[in-house]
Amino acid sequence: MSQQTELKLTFEPLNMRTKHPFGISYGTSSDVSNVLVKVQYDTFEGLGEAAPAAYHSESVPTVIAVLKSWSESGSLGNDPFAVEATMRRLDKTLAGNGAAKAGVEMALQDLRGKILGMPVNKILGLSGLLPPMTDFTIGIADLDMIEKKTEEAVKAGFHILKVKQGTSYDKEIIRRVRKAAPSLPLRVDANGGWTPKQAIAMSHFLAENGVEFIEQPLHKFASLEDWRLVRNGAAIPIFADESCMRAPDAARLAGVVDGVVVKLAKTGGLSEALKLIHTARALDMRVMFGMMVESSIGVTAATHLSALADYLDLDGAMLLADDPYDGAIYKDGYMVLSDRPGLGVIPRAN
Ligand code: MG
Repeated sequence: MSQQTELKLTFEPLNMRTKHPFGISYGTSSDVSNVLVKVQYDTFEGLGEAAPAAYHSESVPTVIAVLKSWSESGSLGNDPFAVEATMRRLDKTLAGNGAAKAGVEMALQDLRGKILGMPVNKILGLSGLLPPMTDFTIGIADLDMIEKKTEEAVKAGFHILKVKQGTSYDKEIIRRVRKAAPSLPLRVDANGGWTPKQAIAMSHFLAENGVEFIEQPLHKFASLEDWRLVRNGAAIPIFADESCMRAPDAARLAGVVDGVVVKLAKTGGLSEALKLIHTARALDMRVMFGMMVESSIGVTAATHLSALADYLDLDGAMLLADDPYDGAIYKDGYMVLSDRPGLGVIPRAN
């Protein structure tokens, strides 16, 4: 019997819809256009998902072009255990393109776990830790819809809500969320929608309404001076998301933010996410683990690292109307992994 010696990379569009139109400060959409990534070796197949965002300078066409070039050049090599070496090689060929790289590494980690017959978090030595609870995101919409979505989230048993901001009616949004969820812990994500002055003023209003922290109040390319100004004037902690892609960004932002948001689509996969998490910890910053709107492939990959975070925002698949996969499952506040090998993701039966 001949054995396949090269890792084979294939990919296809993964188009999905959200339950409600999902709005953030950059825009609103019901369509989710990601890319399904597959890596085959021998009889094993690993699955990954690339979730590109225009505000990270990626799109489905850029992801497909990058994956095509890696596939044609045999960039994945012939060793299914050489994850770090492979990811370094991909990094060397191309900067950025975090979503495309994340899709490849998810598939490589899944493949390795399936060959070993073991879940990814156990291979990484991360089992036995209790991850924090995940929040559920209330996107930007009109106020009646926001109140309705909040009521639904409370009814569905979510324990923490994350509220999207960056509109001309941010205070009203918080009032309507609070009306429907008077006592749930809240956090806020402005997706870069505020000036430093607005951010400081809003932080006091948010503190009075029991909000824990603010994610990305300022523009992605805001100066360190502006970040420092906001952190010094703010009534609650400040986290950087879009401004913190990888470990060197945490080092750059140390002292001017309280924490960073880690996402596989930004770091370019699990290996770089671990580096960012450990760098942030070493610099005394808090860590939130988040995701894009992704299927259960992306959310499950993130869940395998989730025990290392202080805060979790892993609701991406729960926003979908037609998640084609089964993986980590939401249970009373927590994302729970199966004990299947690799990522533990299987096509949804229906
Ligand atoms: Mg964010």
